[in-house]
Amino acid sequence: MSSSVIDFLATEARLGTKNYEPIGVVLSRGEGVWVWDTEGNRYLDCLSAYSAVSQGHCHPKILAAMVEQAHRLTLTSRAFHNDQLAQFYEEIAALTGSHKVLPMNSGAEAVESAIKSVRKWGYEVKGVPDGQAEIIVCANNFHGRTLGIVGFSTDPETRTHFGPFAPGFKIIPFGDVAALEEAITPNTVAFLVEPIQGEAGVIIPPSGYFPKVRELCTANNVMLVLDEIQTGLGRTGKLLAEQHEGIEADVTLLGKALSGGFYPVSAVLSNNEVLGTLRPGQHGSTFGGNPLACAVARAAMRVLVEEGMIENAAMQGARFLQGLKDIRANTIREVRGRGLMLAVELHPEAGRARRYCEALQGKGILAKDTHEHTIRIAPPLVITSDQVDWALEQFATTLTQDLS
Ligand SMILES: *Cc1c(COP(=O)(O)O)cnc(C)c1O
Repeated sequence: MSSSVIDFLATEARLGTKNYEPIGVVLSRGEGVWVWDTEGNRYLDCLSAYSAVSQGHCHPKILAAMVEQAHRLTLTSRAFHNDQLAQFYEEIAALTGSHKVLPMNSGAEAVESAIKSVRKWGYEVKGVPDGQAEIIVCANNFHGRTLGIVGFSTDPETRTHFGPFAPGFKIIPFGDVAALEEAITPNTVAFLVEPIQGEAGVIIPPSGYFPKVRELCTANNVMLVLDEIQTGLGRTGKLLAEQHEGIEADVTLLGKALSGGFYPVSAVLSNNEVLGTLRPGQHGSTFGGNPLACAVARAAMRVLVEEGMIENAAMQGARFLQGLKDIRANTIREVRGRGLMLAVELHPEAGRARRYCEALQGKGILAKDTHEHTIRIAPPLVITSDQVDWALEQFATTLTQDLS
């Protein structure tokens, strides 16, 4: 380790809040699926900043759009109109088939905004008595880190000593239609759920779950809010993960890859009713919908479609999944995935997934453990067959080792 690397780590340790435990690599450059550390070592990025860099690092067309817009106008606040917002609305609405758009910045803000909007819809349209709105969520959810959201997390680390929390949330098991049916009351305004639980370890619900969820929500006038912040924009091999299920959400949340990793951009997308209840002064964000964010997001959506990244995610995802399933290793308990959202769950006796991620780093692959025993794999959607095959070789040699 060179002294410069030690300096980065030591300074972070001394001055930084220790709310992360990064793998010991200091990155300084990225291009496509590759990133380089300060010593010039190259790695295949199998995390993509938790799917925010789906278009590949430093995509030249998104970069050009960002630089061009940064020269012209970056921020106006929503006190005035800007010449990028309307075009962003047109393009995201056309891409996703949505009627109303609310631009925000982080994913958590999009989730918070959706919670506020469905509650307001519940009181003003559905007729729920004031203060009584209920939102149903799933166990092992991940929707972000703000106070409102961590209050309905089931992960003790996420919640402990951050309370008191806001009431109004009911938690049911993921993938359980009967539990949803039982939890719905006349005061239920929404069911907030991830199509595939990402942070929980890429948990795919039983087939047929979401069509039944859709039916129940429609029958009970409950808004189905799909958090597609991680699954959306091609990650699972379709534009939206809901398309695998043949359903349409009432409210869809996007973030992460909406900017291709250049800038925080998120959005709440809805039917006319839900976002239609918000009036001037009732919700907002200084940076939400700013011209720089809009220009970046427009370019990020454009390259995703024009460069065939969604189809590529389906194709390379299938290749990657099959390749992982073909690895014969006693360490592997289960391989899961849809598109390029993949995970290898290890047997508990195989040791911590973190050890395998560190071993992968030595072989030129950056991947991230989640929940002790799972390695999550989510490369940029521009990955090629040769790169998938090379990655599979590194996974095979790493996973056949015993690092317990
Ligand atoms: C990452 C993520 C969020 C939160 O996004 P931030 O930009 O980190 O606030 C919310 N929901 C899901 C499903 C996510 O993966």
